[in-house]
Amino acid sequence: MNEEKILNILRNTPDEELFAEADAVRSQTCGDEVYIRAIIEFSNYCRCACEYCGLNVKNDELSRYRMTLEQVIKASREAFDENVQTIVLQSGEDAGIKTDEICQMVESIKRIGDIAVTLSCGEYPYEDYRLMRNAGADRYLLKIETVNREIYHKLRPGCRFENRVRCLHDLSELGYQVGSGSLVGLPGQTLEDIADDIMFCVNLDLEMATFSPFIPHPKTPLGDEPGGSWLLGLRVLATARIALPAVHIPVSTALASVSPDDYMSPLNAGANVVMADVTPYEFVKYYDIYPGKAPIGFRKGRDSISRLKKIIESMGRPIGIGRGDALKKKSTDYFL
Ligand code: SAH
Repeated sequence: MNEEKILNILRNTPDEELFAEADAVRSQTCGDEVYIRAIIEFSNYCRCACEYCGLNVKNDELSRYRMTLEQVIKASREAFDENVQTIVLQSGEDAGIKTDEICQMVESIKRIGDIAVTLSCGEYPYEDYRLMRNAGADRYLLKIETVNREIYHKLRPGCRFENRVRCLHDLSELGYQVGSGSLVGLPGQTLEDIADDIMFCVNLDLEMATFSPFIPHPKTPLGDEPGGSWLLGLRVLATARIALPAVHIPVSTALASVSPDDYMSPLNAGANVVMADVTPYEFVKYYDIYPGKAPIGFRKGRDSISRLKKIIESMGRPIGIGRGDALKKKSTDYFL
C-alpha cells in the first residue's frame, strides 16, 4: 500500500465495489465476529481548545462533570455482566484528574474480571503512560485527527502535531495496543489529506483505527461549517480496511450518529467492532462532543449493549467472545 493507491481507491472505486472489497478483506482477516466495546465517558473537563469539539475549554455553556471511582466501577460491572470484555475509558484532557486516579480506575476494572481496558484521555508524558500501563491498561486510543499540519495547528491551538506523534510512539513502545485515526470532512481537508491520514496509520503499525465524519458543533468556531458526509465517512472506513487488513476498525460513534438507523452498512463495509455507550444516563448529555451523538435508544448502559447485540445477530454475524485483543502481534511486542 502507498498513498497513491489509497487515493486512487478513495477517488475512483465505485461505492458498491469498494464496500464489497472491504467486506471481503474484513471477513478474511478478522472473521465474521463483531466485538462490542463498552465506553464510559468519565469526564468532560478539557484543557484543550480544539475548534471542532464541543468539550473545548472555551465552551463555558457546558456543565462539567467527573464520575467517581464507584460510578466507573458500577458501569464497568454492568457491561461485564453483559459479557462485554473491553471497557474504554474516555475523557477530555482533564487537568483536574491525577494520573494516580486514572490508574486506580484501571486497577479496579481489572479486578472485576478478564477485561481489557482501553484508555482515551489524550496526551500525556511518557512517564504517565508508563504508570497507566503498569496499572493494567491494555490499549490506548489517540486519534491524530488530521496529518495536514496546517489544519492541525489551526484547529488545535496550543497543541503540537509532533507531540501527538510522540505520544503514539511512546504508547507503542510501552506495549499498548494502539489506535489512531482521523476526522473526515474537516474544513479545508482534501482527499489527498485523508489518504495521508490512512497512510499515517499504515506506517504506525497500529492495532486499531477509527475514522469519523466531522460533525459541526454550534458552540464551536466551526459551528457554521459543513460536516463530513455519511457516504464519505463510509468510503474512508472501507478504504482504511483495505489498507489496514488486520486492524480493529469500529463503527465510530460519529458515523453511527450521522445515520443512526444504519449500523449495518459500516459493518458490511469493513468494520468489525461496535461501541456501546454505557456512561450513566445522567451524564450522557454533557459529553457533548458534537450534536446528536447517537440516538437515545442506544444510550442506556445495558440497553445500548442489548440493542447492538440484536443488530449483530439480525445480520447473521456472531458476537465476538472474549476480549478481542489485537489481531496481529507487533514485532516490538513485549510485556511489562
Ligand atoms: N481527549 C481525548 C479524547 C477526545 S474525544 C483525545 O484527545 O484523544 C474523542 C474524539 O472525538 C476525538 O479524537 C475527535 O476525533 C472526536 N471529535 C471531537 N469533536 C468532534 C466532532 N465535532 N465531530 C466528530 N468527531 C469529533
